[in-house]
Amino acid sequence: MAKKDYRQSNIPTSQNQKDQSNRVNNGVFVFTRSMNVAELAKELGINVNDIIKFLFLEKKMMVTINQNLDDETIGLICLQFGFDFKKEKIVSEEQFEEVEIIDKPEDLLPRPAVVTIMGHVDHGKTTLIDAIRSSHLVDSEVGGISQAIGAYQKEINGQKITFLDTPGHEAFTAMRSRGAAVTDIVVLVVAADDGVMPQTIEAIDHAKAAGVPIIVAINKIDKEGADPSRIKTELMSYDIIAEEYGGSNICCEISAKKNIGIKELLESILLVAEMQELKANPNRYAIGTVIEAKLDKGEGPKATLLVQNGTLSFQDYVVVGTAYGKIRRMTNEHKKILKEAKPSTPVVVIGLSEVPNAGDKFMAFPTEKQAREIAEKRALIKKQNEQGAQAAATLEKLYSKITESNGEVQEVNIVLKADTTGSAEAVKASLDKLSNDQVHINVIHSSAGAITNNDIMLASASNAIIYGFNVRPTAMVQAKAEEEGVEIRLHRIIYALTEEMEAAIKGMYKKEQVEKVIGQAEVRSLIKISKVGTVAGSYVTSGVIKAGCSVRVLRDGVIVYEGKLNSLKRFKDDAREVKEGFECGMTIENFNDIKENDVIEAYEMVEKE
Ligand code: GDP
Repeated sequence: MAKKDYRQSNIPTSQNQKDQSNRVNNGVFVFTRSMNVAELAKELGINVNDIIKFLFLEKKMMVTINQNLDDETIGLICLQFGFDFKKEKIVSEEQFEEVEIIDKPEDLLPRPAVVTIMGHVDHGKTTLIDAIRSSHLVDSEVGGISQAIGAYQKEINGQKITFLDTPGHEAFTAMRSRGAAVTDIVVLVVAADDGVMPQTIEAIDHAKAAGVPIIVAINKIDKEGADPSRIKTELMSYDIIAEEYGGSNICCEISAKKNIGIKELLESILLVAEMQELKANPNRYAIGTVIEAKLDKGEGPKATLLVQNGTLSFQDYVVVGTAYGKIRRMTNEHKKILKEAKPSTPVVVIGLSEVPNAGDKFMAFPTEKQAREIAEKRALIKKQNEQGAQAAATLEKLYSKITESNGEVQEVNIVLKADTTGSAEAVKASLDKLSNDQVHINVIHSSAGAITNNDIMLASASNAIIYGFNVRPTAMVQAKAEEEGVEIRLHRIIYALTEEMEAAIKGMYKKEQVEKVIGQAEVRSLIKISKVGTVAGSYVTSGVIKAGCSVRVLRDGVIVYEGKLNSLKRFKDDAREVKEGFECGMTIENFNDIKENDVIEAYEMVEKE
């Protein structure tokens, strides 16, 4: 039975589905599909010839009545004739992640900011999270019994801030790669006695890729040798310019350990939040994201949900993933039972039928019937999707994307990893030069070092291709890339790399012979034998190593040598191949500089299917 409710549904009812055609609404031309000149003139109620004349005289475009117009031109025409415009995607109700919720401005109320704390390891993220959590800013606040649920709220000056309390960018990017943009503001922790470090830079790139403002918390100012101004100077190389240097990034000097500057940091967050004008409509059914979830032995699936828009109520019907359920209990981080949760509130709920994934979107519905039907449809679609291939950014598809883009500039996102900072810069500079008026090559992150899971997640979140220059992913990272559908391209010569990208842009990229990694072995001991050289006593960690195959030697993920296997032995005997889980001795042609813990990667060249 439908409850009596003040809230509006998020899914258009079949009655207003009809609305999904092109229409003029309050001076805004809302269109859902492309159209020709005559159709547009009719929709806008203006003369066809006026459009043709305008395009010819002002835009030097010759068009005919029946010519289809791209979105940009439709926009230009609208503006010229006094209309605002908006392209609306038609999506069906079960794809609720895609449903664009449009709230009327008068329905919107301010909501708390959602903040993630990022920074290099040991710079004090966890200490800061704890300092904020346990700081007693308001007398009425219940302290002590708070439990870690993945997020918490803090009140300062009568305003709330929501903190996601998994530090680091793994969680942030993992969420984003699943399409969940939950963070409004990033607090970047930099230790004043250490400075900008690799993960600081990664965090900056992740925040930038997500378009989220950064507040810098210069931490550990209590320490001797702390030099906040040096940190601010260092950050300038990464386009983080402190306000006192004329930039837009607030820098707070804090000590998380000694509780110095925490209040000022929180006030800065409020300030940035205010500038962002974060708003939501509490008078609709809730939409939001799963922050974390687990199976509780006694209570069944238990999930922390962040309400992002609308209000979540006790006994609401919620769909998440392909499951649905009725909220049987809802509590906050202090285990307090809540009847309602407004936008930006994190809550722990019980009543879902399955454990959802962190990063999944959820939506609440007025009736059980609607929730069940939508969950069933989603399960069906998921099954169909699993049978089909997933779409991801690949070099092969790049050209068709460019040609189908109808003149719009195509962004090609790239995550670049190289053996040294120098080569990373050189490759980035060469890639930058390839941008033209159709294609914009956008290196969203470049650094020295091995390709890591973080890079995969960033690429997956940003639909980027990963370029490795003189570096390799481990088998584990490679598997992750495959799972996420991220393409990794590996090169050792800059010009081969840029040539490949150029060919892809021009549609001349062809798959030729490709390398297939057949196995990896770890060097566990070294035996020097005169005349023979250094024998690498190794353990095959994955796949198989074959006699005479091509190999490369990796040290911390960086290629130090590439060549052929000279000999492969099991105990004293020559072996044709050695499989995963077995030990072997190897020598490499013309290479004796092998070290313990090196990884020997065996590969073959195969025709790409
Ligand atoms: P995380 O890896 O970024 O989460 O860093 P932690 O919060 O675990 O902190 C790393 C170390 O720095 C710990 O030993 C903390 O006690 C110490 N630490 C954190 N903040 C401060 C601070 O403001 N001053 C000083 N002196 N030490 C701090």
